[in-house]
Parts: sequence; structure tokens; C-alpha cells
Amino acid sequence: MARHDPLTGIANRLLWRERIEQTITAAGTDTLAALLYIDLDGFKGVNDAFGHYAGDVVLQQVASRLLECVADADAVARIGGDEFVVIQEQVVDRYAVEGLARCLVEQLSRPFELNKAPVRLGGCIGIALFPNDGRNADELLQAADMALYQAKAEGPGIYRFFSADQGDRTKQRLERKRALHHALAAGQLELHYQPIYDLRSGQLRSFEALLRWRHPTDGLVSPADFIPLAEETGLIVPIGNWVLSEACRQLARWPSGISVGVNLSPLQFRGRELVDAVRRAVDHAGVDVSRLELEITESVLLRNDRENLELLRDLRGLGARVAMDDFGTGYSSLSYLRSFPFDKIKLDRSFVSDLATSTEARAILHAVRSLGAAFRVRTTAEGIETPEQLAVVREEGYDEGQGYLLGRPQHPDDAFALAHSMGSAGPTGLFHELGCGVPTSPEAYPRLANTCASGNPNTRD
Ligand code: C2E
Ligand code: MG
Ligand code: MG
Repeated sequence: MARHDPLTGIANRLLWRERIEQTITAAGTDTLAALLYIDLDGFKGVNDAFGHYAGDVVLQQVASRLLECVADADAVARIGGDEFVVIQEQVVDRYAVEGLARCLVEQLSRPFELNKAPVRLGGCIGIALFPNDGRNADELLQAADMALYQAKAEGPGIYRFFSADQGDRTKQRLERKRALHHALAAGQLELHYQPIYDLRSGQLRSFEALLRWRHPTDGLVSPADFIPLAEETGLIVPIGNWVLSEACRQLARWPSGISVGVNLSPLQFRGRELVDAVRRAVDHAGVDVSRLELEITESVLLRNDRENLELLRDLRGLGARVAMDDFGTGYSSLSYLRSFPFDKIKLDRSFVSDLATSTEARAILHAVRSLGAAFRVRTTAEGIETPEQLAVVREEGYDEGQGYLLGRPQHPDDAFALAHSMGSAGPTGLFHELGCGVPTSPEAYPRLANTCASGNPNTRD
């Protein structure tokens, strides 16, 4: 009992440790052995959405599927929440390990049965080999963990062997984590602002504030790289508060018709601090709170828990607007639309970028716009990079557009200049300039004028 996991019946961490030490002793220094470290994809989502009982059922099914791939039952162990390991003894070469890894990945990629409904999860695997990657249980587990990290970055459903430069990358990650602690105080964080335009009038509507880290030696670091670190360390809360106050400070410098969008992390929804932070930021800058738009992803509502919903209502009670960001990428975006009266839907940029190659992307684009109309929610298309994409989203009737074609995220000074120049550029604003408004100038912008001229006449200026 003490050496088995009560939920799944397979070996627990204790028995696993005994086993791997036996394996190492028996292997000597020339025979290979492998440690395969498995982590489920999306398990947290199952727990959050369907409850812990459902999570338990999945874990039991996982254990019995892993056993399908190995001859020796004690070689499979559960060593953490959704973390499993498999020990492979007397390995002849890497190909033998790959065979096992493929079997495990395939087992996990089949849908799981939950209340008769299929749920797809999948898993990633990190592999460490004895004696090359580690000489004892801890070293092997650490190496397998680094390989797993790599697999998950490439995932889902990927296995990866440990390699020495993975070790270097892990060190860099730890280094970054440490440096991030000082970044805020040292003034290394910046906000850049990406313009968002009204697709009918061509006028500048708002800017989205996007965080950048000017690392002293590595240069500008993208938020995709350091926001996960900030979330792991809890630093996202002070950083998020700074973003709010800095964005509002800039907002005060722009003409009153222009708003600012600020991204919020789900972690900022723990506790009540967020409402105060928003109020403080707005009051301190002396701006009208209705010019502040808070962008959240569905992960904030994933638990659909009452506290987060209440907090959202309070934020809206203050007068701020709330937008659902990256719409369509999660697996229950639609149901979240019902749970809260969003002011805006921002369709994820993947649908716009797939427009040229996928007819489904166009259908989704159209459907989301119709949803927006039915719910009376404004719609923004993200990631517009080409004149063709601009023409399609205008034709579909999207209210607003954002993307590299219309403007990249820019330094606050440039955003300031743009905000003030657009005001005087007249109602057709950018599209006039691009040749999309009236009058067009085919000589200057032949490709664009062509595209714009072929658009739906109802959506043209
Ligand atoms: P997001 O909120 O969806 O922001 C839009 C991202 O798309 C930005 O990436 C922007 O630079 C990029 N983008 C805009 N137009 C185009 C285009 O035409 N083509 C392509 N390929 N990309 C385009 P960025 O700045 O790297 O930010 C990535 C994500 O990091 C954001 O996605 C947001 O989720 C998060 N983030 C950024 N700033 C903050 C912040 O202050 N707080 C929090 N919690 N998250 C932030
Ligand atoms: Mg956003
Ligand atoms: Mg987005």
C-alpha cells in the first residue's frame, strides 16, 4: 500500500525510486536504461472544467493505457498529479526507446471516456538515458524533466531525448526568472502600443498596450517568453498593476476619442486587488474609465467560478469595457460568451492568417461576426497583414481591425504622434491614405486600391 498509488494502483514515487536504483545497479556502466517522463496535455483544463472526479477517472485510464505498452507492471509509476514515469531496462539502442515512446504517445492520443463523452488530451514525453544523461535517480529525472520541457514547447503529443544544450536553455530560463525580479524596479519594462482602426471609417479607435522587456544583455524580450515566467513567480501581479497605471498615463496624453486596451493575466484575478488597481490607475491619470478596455482570454473564465465573474462585473461596474481576446482558440469560447456580457470579441489572428489557404477560416470569420451581431458585441479582427485580408474582414463587416498592415506595436512617442496626427487626417483616416477610402489612387497603391475597390460596396466608405 505504501509503495503504490491508491488512485491508479500503479507504483508511487517511493517504489519508483527503489526500482530505478535497482535498474542502475543491474545495468552496470555499459548497458543502457531509459527513463521516460510523461506529462498530460490539458489535464488541468479537465479538472477545472469537469471537476476533480473527472480528473481522477482520466488518471486511472491513463495508468491502464501506459501499462499496455510495457511488459513489467512495476516499471510504470505515478510520481505527481498528472506526471507519470516509465523505466525501460536493458535498452539496446535509442530506437528501442523510441518504439516505447511512440506507443505511449499513441495510447494517450486516443480520446478518453468521460461520462460517455470523448475528451482528447494527449501527452508529451521527456527521455533521459542511463548512463549518459545521469548517473543516479535524481540526475536522470532532472534530465528527463528538461527534455519534457522541450517536448511540451513543441507539443502536443511529442517525445524528446535530453540533450546537453537543453541543459543550457534551462539555465537561461532560471537566469531570466532571476533577472525579471529586478526588471520592474530597474525600469527595463516598456509598453509599446499597436493601433486599432475602425474598419468602416478608417479612423484610429484605440491602441493595445503590449509589454516589452528591454533585457540589459539580450535586447528586447517578447512577452510570449517572459509572461509565463512572471506568472510562475507571481510577479505578474505587480507587473500587471504597473501596466495598468502606465497605459492610463499614456492614455491621458491622447485625444479623448481614443481608448487603450490592456491585457490581463488570469493570475491577476486572484483576490480583490485588481478592482483597486484599475480604479487607482484611472484616477491617478485623470482619464475617463470608459476609455479603458480590459482584454481577457478564456482562461480567466475557465473555472467559470463565481468569484472571477463577480470581479469582472465589478470592473465593468467601474465603467471599464471588457473584451474577450484570442477568441476561437480555446475549446469553449462559445459558452463563455453567454456567461458574461462582453463589450468586444477579438477574433484570434490564426483565422485571419489562414484566410488564403483555408475556406473553413473564412466560414469561422463569418460565423463569429454573425455571433457578434446577434449578441450586439463589437468585433475586432486581429493579425491583418495583407491588403487581401483587410478586404475580407471589411467585407465580412468586422467593426475594427488590428495587424502589421495597419500598424505595428510602437514606441509611446510614435503612438503619441500617430494619435495626434490621425485626429486631423479626416474621417477616412488611414484607409484614405492606403487608398481604401474615397478617392482612391490606383497609381500610388495599385494592389491595395484594387482590393479595396472589389470589396462589398456596403462596407466601403
Ligand atoms: P495578444 O493580446 O493577442 O496581442 C496581440 C499580439 O499579436 C501581439 O504580440 C502583437 O504584436 C501581435 N500582432 C499584432 N498584429 C500582428 C500581425 O499582423 N501579425 C502577427 N504575426 N502578429 C501580430 P506580442 O506583443 O508579442 O504579445 C503576445 C501576447 O502577450 C499578447 O497577445 C498577450 O496575450 C500577452 N501580453 C502582452 N502584453 C501583456 C501584458 O501587459 N499583460 C499580460 N498579462 N499579457 C500581455
Ligand atoms: Mg490582447
Ligand atoms: Mg489577441
